[in-house]
Amino acid sequence: MKACNKCGEMKPFEEFYKASAARDGLQSSCKSCIKSAARERHAANPEKNRAADKKRYAANREKRLATNRKWHKDNPGKARAAARERHAANPEKARAAARDKYAANPEKYRKAARDKYAANPEKILATNKKWAAGNPGKVRAKNAKRRAAKLFRTPSWSETEAIEQFYIDCPKGYQGDHEIPLQGELVSGLHVLENLQYLTGPENISKGNKFNPDDWYWVKGN
Ligand SMILES: [Zn+2]
Repeated sequence: MKACNKCGEMKPFEEFYKASAARDGLQSSCKSCIKSAARERHAANPEKNRAADKKRYAANREKRLATNRKWHKDNPGKARAAARERHAANPEKARAAARDKYAANPEKYRKAARDKYAANPEKILATNKKWAAGNPGKVRAKNAKRRAAKLFRTPSWSETEAIEQFYIDCPKGYQGDHEIPLQGELVSGLHVLENLQYLTGPENISKGNKFNPDDWYWVKGN
């Protein structure tokens, strides 16, 4: 045992880092005191440390990439499982990270998708078909989004995820419908939650692109 000169506690020798110049071969402060001092220094001058971190990170880039590649090769499936776990633990965060990654280099991801499709189109189509069969609500949400985008009817504040949920929750025998049609005769509605309702297929067809302001005010209770 040895007393730490910082916190004063008696601690086992393993709790001290080595110092070959010291008489007992150990640092005079314990590991946890040294670590908290480093944290304090870092907090006191984050800019300086960020620059140093960045430099260290850049210098080790190749080495790190090689280590990563090797790990992925040695642990097939593990990376995917870890990603799935991260996603399940915090889907919102995972989605945001994926969006950021894509936004930083959209051309790269588009090209990768194109290459993957070109290498095995049947496989991709089969995967997509399987996903679509298992996610009818998401498919409807995607189609509605694409249609609205084509018509420039999606305002920037449109609630993408709430709208997706609206289509997922669509009761059997009903369709998602824009109360005020996206391409109306009198007025065009927006692709926003407020403008969505569930209609049965036949109701939706008979409604077409007609919008009756009186009906709408009645529905809204105005
Ligand atoms: Zn200590």
